[in-house]
Amino acid sequence: MAISEKLRLQNMINGEFVDPVDGGSEEVINPSTGEVIAQSPLSGAEDVNRAVAAAKAAFENGWATTTPRERSDRLLALADAIIENGDELTDLESADAGKPRQAFIDEELDTTADHIRYFATAARNLEGKAAMEYLEGHTSFIRREPVGPVAQITPWNYPLMMAAWKLGPALATGNTLVLKPAESTPVSTLHTLARICAEVFPPGVTNFIGGHGDPAGSTLVTHPDIKMVSLTGSIGTGKWIAKAAADSLKRVHLELGGKAPVIVFDDADLDAVYETIAGTALFNAGQDCTAACRVLVDEQVHDEFVAKLKAAAEEAKYGNPDEPDLLFGPLNSARQLASVQGFIDRLPAHVEIVTGGSRVDRVGYFFAPTVLDGARQDDEITQSEIFGPVITVQTFADENQAYEYANGVEFGLASSVWTTDHARALRASAALDYGCVWINTHIPLVAEFPHGGFKHSGYGKDLSIYAVEEYTRIKHVMSSME
Ligand code: NAD
Repeated sequence: MAISEKLRLQNMINGEFVDPVDGGSEEVINPSTGEVIAQSPLSGAEDVNRAVAAAKAAFENGWATTTPRERSDRLLALADAIIENGDELTDLESADAGKPRQAFIDEELDTTADHIRYFATAARNLEGKAAMEYLEGHTSFIRREPVGPVAQITPWNYPLMMAAWKLGPALATGNTLVLKPAESTPVSTLHTLARICAEVFPPGVTNFIGGHGDPAGSTLVTHPDIKMVSLTGSIGTGKWIAKAAADSLKRVHLELGGKAPVIVFDDADLDAVYETIAGTALFNAGQDCTAACRVLVDEQVHDEFVAKLKAAAEEAKYGNPDEPDLLFGPLNSARQLASVQGFIDRLPAHVEIVTGGSRVDRVGYFFAPTVLDGARQDDEITQSEIFGPVITVQTFADENQAYEYANGVEFGLASSVWTTDHARALRASAALDYGCVWINTHIPLVAEFPHGGFKHSGYGKDLSIYAVEEYTRIKHVMSSME
């Protein structure tokens, strides 16, 4: 399905596509062309109320007590439907989020279905403490119960995959949900995922609403019938939600930003390092919270490393999503383009633009692959997420200084260390204050292992059994045997 005409998106509430009560909508822009591709609903308080009421009714009227097998079977059907609708999802995600088509197929489509399949399996494999007599004459056991209707808020950089990471564990464990995609990339969620979910799950189990952080998102996450909020988004939004949730003591799960340090020691295999770093820093135009964006390189090998990184960055292919063999496409929006350009405009004099550093002179929000050398610890480009195809390079003098610099930011999501010294790699894995440490690699994910941060990168995990557990509450039942 090519997007030849403008799509008219609607909310999906209680199994039906509906317009917002007041009829509000806004245009969605293709970041590669600047053209309008869809009209997306702008939900208000009444739309949120209806979606939450549907989720509450579905929770109370049976979904919460379905068997693991039923939930698993339906999640497997969802995974199959994602693959069956793969062409359509590829069209929509490349038009809406600027994803190179082949990169989306290779790196996101199958992976999204695989992650849903993992959660389908996990639904049938929840474990707990052994039921037995911990007090004489009394049997104790654990019930794992769903939390209730949950609110799920997704970002614009991986719209489909982030939605899967949220709804997979929630549905596996018997929760119902209202999910709001980011306002700039609602298309794959509201057009296709919502329809598939309505076909696979009973009415009201999955509800999807369009709109902005305020009022749609803020009304949703503060709704009294919502029992848990899961956000993937910025630190500012995460803090706002955590504060708002305090009043009702809702459970909160926050996957926030990142600024991944990439520590390159002098004994690293440089030929293996620079290509991986360029590839994983620039993939998705650097709009990835785990992107290999902040290189810390031993001063002994700095010159050789920067020369090779420059060459690799300049070879990175970017362009319109329909072009072949692309590493990345445009930035997501005019706002994001302006934000990335702002970091370059504010560079201190000691930072050298090794390559790139500007918008590409073509239609769309394209930014050239960029390497910045001479970054210092207090620089804005070291401390803040740029979220564009920009790699910063900073030197360190010894191992301790490498860890000090790596940990000296507010983020704590992902990191990598490059060395051929096994003992040093193990020291780094302990020293790095990050939710993930890769050794001699960067960015691969597997469904069985958790993804989530420390510090201001948030708390709670996506993927793995740890994510599944986030969506359950644990009840101790103790019975007298008399
Ligand atoms: P954002 O916080 O502005 O928006 C994220 C989502 O939150 C959107 O759907 C938005 O509408 C919604 N939102 C905004 N204010 C809200 C409010 N008050 N109440 C409820 N919802 C609200 O972030 P963004 O700029 O769209 O996304 C990029 C950010 O997400 C980056 O910082 C990036 O690092 C982070 N991110 C993190 C991960 C991860 O796994 N840790 C993955 C992808 C993106």
